Parts: sequence; structure tokens; C-alpha cells
Amino acid sequence: MNIKTKCVVVGASAVGSAAAYYLSKKGIDVALLEEHPIAGKFHKCSGLFSKKGLEKTGLKYKESILNPIRKARIVFPEDEFEVGSSIIQAYVTNRQKLDEMFCEQANHAGASVFFNKRFESGFLVNDKVLSNFSGNFSAESEFLLGCDGVNSTVSAVFGFPKISSDNIALAYEVEIGNCNIAEKDKVIVFLNQKKYPGFFAWMIPVSESIARIGVATNKHEKLNLSKQNLFFEKQIIDILKGKKIKIIRDFYHTIPIQIRQTTQKSNVLLVGDSAGQTKSTTGGGVIFGTQCAKIAADSIESTIKNNIPLNYEYLWRNDVGKTLYAHRKMREVYNWLDNSSLNIMSKSFKLFNGPSLLSKYGDMDNILA
Ligand SMILES: Cc1cc2nc3c(=O)[nH]c(=O)nc-3n(C[C@H](O)[C@H](O)[C@H](O)COP(=O)(O)OP(=O)(O)OC[C@H]3O[C@@H](n4cnc5c(N)ncnc54)[C@H](O)[C@@H]3O)c2cc1C
Repeated sequence: MNIKTKCVVVGASAVGSAAAYYLSKKGIDVALLEEHPIAGKFHKCSGLFSKKGLEKTGLKYKESILNPIRKARIVFPEDEFEVGSSIIQAYVTNRQKLDEMFCEQANHAGASVFFNKRFESGFLVNDKVLSNFSGNFSAESEFLLGCDGVNSTVSAVFGFPKISSDNIALAYEVEIGNCNIAEKDKVIVFLNQKKYPGFFAWMIPVSESIARIGVATNKHEKLNLSKQNLFFEKQIIDILKGKKIKIIRDFYHTIPIQIRQTTQKSNVLLVGDSAGQTKSTTGGGVIFGTQCAKIAADSIESTIKNNIPLNYEYLWRNDVGKTLYAHRKMREVYNWLDNSSLNIMSKSFKLFNGPSLLSKYGDMDNILA
């Protein structure tokens, strides 16, 4: 089968589905192609998103909410403190449900959705993009959006610069039932350069009895040790003790913690994890990825309707890119610190009333995912 359309979007997870939605809403012809038989990331995500960020997507998400989050406890090697208030800052969601909801909304807005279509190769010919998919499926389009995640085939096929492996964190997360969670509106974050080098560990409550417990590190060979360390944390032992716990699911996945050097080549754009549009500090990528999808759709619309050269690369870097660069710098500084500097940092933060100032004035949108 061969189709002709204005835009091809590869990958029907959160970002690709959002991109297809925004383009369709503008009346632009879109085909959204996904390698799997259904949309989504199959729960391989903590699913924690700031309330404001979800609102900003402009997409319906409320049916995916599992648990509201108001507070965070930050555990340093020798110290800990809490931030937050009585206000809902974020939601723990059913990530798979959210992805499927986004995809349905794209479809409803007019995008043609094709499943079981894996992007395999592509060419640029006279301002047209020719793409080949599994199952003898090909597409001719004016624009191609690679929303195909951190191991993007679109980026490899079109020769985009690589993200080096030390800028990709390796993560493990397990969802456990029958836990004892005292405060189900509080996430716990563990910062410790010895135990969790180059990233952090977390506990995200899904309810009073279900927790998502995970860890990520950019030292891939240390992940197993980091996992062991996490299950020796006092707060985790407390949550798991008592009843017979039940493993609901677990998974390994990767998180890009650096923006790709180039995200646009002619009319081929990378959006979301394929572009490295995640916050290097937290690994959160859905809110920023969908914002970049919106920018891509605006830029494509200007090109189609007003003949303005496609300017996606400049536009997103000049907008959300600034926040992402700030996160990258914070990650670089953090990775440079050892545990004793972390302890000094947390103590000084407390001394200068940091936690209550952060709770009062901090924009969780820029801190959380
Ligand atoms: C452990 C962990 C926890 C996380 N927690 C959070 C969190 O709490 N909050 C947050 O904001 N972010 C979180 N993230 C990051 C978040 O999951 C990603 O930023 C987000 O999924 C990126 O969305 P995406 O659509 O760009 O890519 P993906 O979700 O990876 O989707 C890529 C899509 O492309 C499809 N695809 C891939 N290759 C092809 C191909 N060749 N042809 C066709 N289709 C293809 C895939 O099947 C998939 O549907 C977490 C990540 C990890 C690993």
C-alpha cells in the first residue's frame, strides 16, 4: 500500500499522538504510524506529570489520573527535607491509558492512524520525503516527524548526530502492590552519588498500597548495584514491610539526558525523546515533548500557509529549549558533586529556608515532569 499525505508522524506514543493531534486540528493531513498493534509506551514510564503541564497539552487526560501528588521528600546521604503544600502539584497516571487517549484524540481530530507499521527507511527527493514501513507500506509526504523515542530509527536513517551512551540513563522501575504507604500524596526522591551515580532513585505512590519504585543511572554497569541499594533504604523497607508484597510489573528502559545536536534536517523533524527533549534533571519528557510537538505543528502550518521556511529547530530551542538547557546545566553541576558536597548543599539549603521558599514560590512545572 502507498499513501500520499502532507505529514507523516512515526510513533504513536504520547508525543507522536500529540503532534498528530495538533496538526490535524489545524486541518493538515496527517498519517500517524506505529510499529506496535496499539498506541503507547506499554507503561514503561513512572507516569508522573505536573498538573499544569498536562493542562498545557490541551489534550484530555483526566481519565488516566490515578493519584494526586502534593509533596516530595528529598533524601540526601545525611539529611532530608520536604517540599510541597496542600495544593495538588502533579498526578500519577496510567501512562498507557494516557498514550491511548492521546492517540484516540488525534484520530478523532482527523489523523489517519496505522498500526503494525514499522518505519524502516526513508529518502529525501525534491522536497518530498519517501518513507518505507514494514508490511510493504510506503508513504510520500512533505514533512516527516520522527517521534519514535530514544532509539529513533528516523534519526539513524536520516543521519542525525547520535546521543552518546553516557548521556543516556538506564532505568529500572517496579510497581509493587500490598505496600504500606503512610502518605499517598508524597513522592520520595533519593539523591546519592555513591548509590545512584549520575541520576537518582524514587518512590511514587499510586495509592496507599501501590508504589512505583525505581532508579536510574548514567553508569549503566552500576544499575544492579543501585537497585540493591534502593531496597536497603529505610523509607523503602518501611513501605514494603508487613504484608506479602505483590510485584505488578517491572521494566528496564532508557532516558536521554542530553538534547540531540540537530533535530531538523530539511523537512524531517525529531520530536520528543528522539530529539532528547527531556529534562536532564528528572528525565521527564512528556510535557516538554508535547510542547515541542505543538511548536513543530505551528512551524509546519506557517510553511504550508504562509510559505515561511520551516523553522522548527530555532523555534523550539528558543522557547522550551531554554528551560531544557538550564536543566542540562543543573545535571552537569550535580554530576560533578560528590556526596560530601551534596550534604553541604542540602544543609545550606535548609539553613537558608530553602524548602519553605521552594514550596511557596517554586514552579513545580519546571521541577517535576
Ligand atoms: C523509568 C522511566 C520513568 C519515566 N518517568 C517519567 C515521568 O514520570 N514523567 C515524564 O514526563 N516522563 C517520564 N519518563 C520519560 C518519558 O517516558 C519519555 O520522555 C516519553 O515517553 C517520550 O515520549 P515519546 O513519544 O517521545 O517516545 P516514546 O514514548 O518512547 O514512544 C516512541 C513510540 O515510537 C514507536 N516506535 C519506535 N520506533 C518505531 C519505528 N521504527 N516505527 C514505528 N514506530 C516506532 C514506539 O513503539 C513508541 O510508540 C520516564 C522514562 C523512564 C524510562
